[in-house]
Amino acid sequence: MIGQRESVSGAHFAFTDRWGGVSAAPYEELNLGGGVGDEPGSVRANRELVAKSLGLDPGSVVWMNQVHGADAVVVDEPWGDRPVPQVDAIVTARRGLALAVLTADCVPVLLADPVAGVVAAAHAGRPGMVRGVVPAAVRAMTELGAEPDRIVARTGPAVCGRCYEVPEDMRAEVAAVEPAAHAETSWGTPAVDVSAGVQAQLDRLGVRDREHSPVCTLESGDHFSYRRDRTTGRLAAYVWLD
Ligand SMILES: [Zn+2]
Repeated sequence: MIGQRESVSGAHFAFTDRWGGVSAAPYEELNLGGGVGDEPGSVRANRELVAKSLGLDPGSVVWMNQVHGADAVVVDEPWGDRPVPQVDAIVTARRGLALAVLTADCVPVLLADPVAGVVAAAHAGRPGMVRGVVPAAVRAMTELGAEPDRIVARTGPAVCGRCYEVPEDMRAEVAAVEPAAHAETSWGTPAVDVSAGVQAQLDRLGVRDREHSPVCTLESGDHFSYRRDRTTGRLAAYVWLD
C-alpha cells in the first residue's frame, strides 16, 4: 500500500504502490484516481484505506484537478463543496492538512520546509516540467516564508529516461528548456528524463536536500503506468506537517 514513507523534522512524505486496495482489474488494486474509469466507490474506499494507514483523516486530504499546467494555489482547508481547481501544484502552511498528487508515470514532487511550516505537492509530467510547475511551487512556498535551502524535496516513482521514448523533435524542444532532461532509451532512441529535469530545476532554485525514487513505473509491476497499460489506475503521493 505505502511503498515509501519518510518523516523529516515533522514533515511527512508518503508514496503509494498499487497493492492493498479494493479496485478490480485493470485498476487493481489501489487506484486512487477518479475519472479514470474505475468505480467511484472503490476509489473512495481506497482513499480511506490509505488515509487510515497514514494516520490521516480522509477529509483532510486535498486533491487537485491536474491539467499538466504550471499553476500553483495556496490552500488552507479541504475544498469541501467548492470545485476542485485545475492546478498542478498546491501549497499550504496549515499543519495537519495533507496535500496529494496523482500520477501514473509523471513525477510526483513533494516539498516541505519544516522550519517555516510550509509544504507543497506538484504534478510534473513532461509538459508541466517544461512549463515550470516545480519553480511555481517553490515560489509559492517562499511567499509563505519558506527558504529553498531548508526545503526537503522528495520525488516518487515515475517513468525513467531509459523508457520514456519520444520523437526526436520533442526531445529537442524539451532539452532546449531543460537540458538535463535529454535522454536516450535503452534501445537507443530519443527519450526524455522528466525526473532529471525536475532535479535540475530544484538544484537551480537552491533546493539541496533532494532524493528521488529509483523506481521506474513502466518497469515495475508494483506500480501503475499509463504508458505501459493506458487504461490503469493512479498512484498517490502525500505530504503533510505535524
Ligand atoms: Zn524505465
